[in-house]
Amino acid sequence: MSGASPNLAADWRSLVRDVPDFPIPGILFKDIVPVLADPAGLAAMTAELTEAARAMQPDVVVAIEARGFILGAPIALALGIGFVPVRKPGKLPFTTRSVAYALEYGEAVLHMHTDALGEGARVVIVDDVLATGGTLEASAQLVTEAGAIAVGAVVALEIGGLGARERLARLPLTALQAV
Ligand code: AMP
Repeated sequence: MSGASPNLAADWRSLVRDVPDFPIPGILFKDIVPVLADPAGLAAMTAELTEAARAMQPDVVVAIEARGFILGAPIALALGIGFVPVRKPGKLPFTTRSVAYALEYGEAVLHMHTDALGEGARVVIVDDVLATGGTLEASAQLVTEAGAIAVGAVVALEIGGLGARERLARLPLTALQAV
């Protein structure tokens, strides 16, 4: 396959692996690792995400640790714009702003560097999977508190029935696949 151009019609959706009871009993984990391992699948998934992001006319990609980073960086490169990481506590070295939010079980906190975004920058937020929407909502709050504009979010997979669309009603959202 070396030297072959990627098959952009590759069916990356069929490469997503369902892992029952991970990380806790009752959760069906949507594992994109097999997509990442497949050159055509990776190319197709990131190309679709890039076009969804392009439509939002962003100035910058904000992506969420950790799988969001894997997808966000190629999108930023393809669009010729910058990349800003949103990370879990204790990871970012400079001064940060943070948002705490509720998970299905417990609480989580996300951080972003205080100098990461310019005033009025148009931000597209990237992650792999949308479930309850809490992670995207918290990330959009970090963007807004920085004085930037969350113009939309793109995800590869959306798990329906968990209230995310209602929760994120004000955030334009493109999911490549509903599951
Ligand atoms: P939520 O905040 O509930 O929308 O959860 C989204 C975040 O948790 C994303 O960063 C996902 O990577 C991860 N996540 C939540 N549920 C799943 C799932 N069933 N399969 C894979 N990742 C998930």
